[in-house]
Amino acid sequence: MDKAGESFNKWLEEERERLIAELERLGVTEQDNPGYSTHIADDATEVFENAKNHALRQNLQRLLGQVNDALAKFEKGTYGLCEDCGEMIARARLKALPYATLCLKCQRQRERS
Ligand SMILES: [Zn+2]
Repeated sequence: MDKAGESFNKWLEEERERLIAELERLGVTEQDNPGYSTHIADDATEVFENAKNHALRQNLQRLLGQVNDALAKFEKGTYGLCEDCGEMIARARLKALPYATLCLKCQRQRERS
């Protein structure tokens, strides 16, 4: 990988740390609240907060999975290659979305189907 590739790798490592820290923070918040899962939540605000936290955590986990996949590709030397057509993903696209797995053309094709 060239220099630009290394900066993607670094960004992904940092992003992984950030996501793990964020997930841990959400997890700790829950443990600080022992009544969280057992009592009947009759407070609409609390229900909303719990649902929001849950959605947030799912989102973070999904992102973490994508970041991990991208990092695994660095190890295999396939980072930046489209999973469908095998072509290089445009650098501008990787800059905007470092864990992109498809080139723009294939992404658009998938969105259409
Ligand atoms: Zn492609």
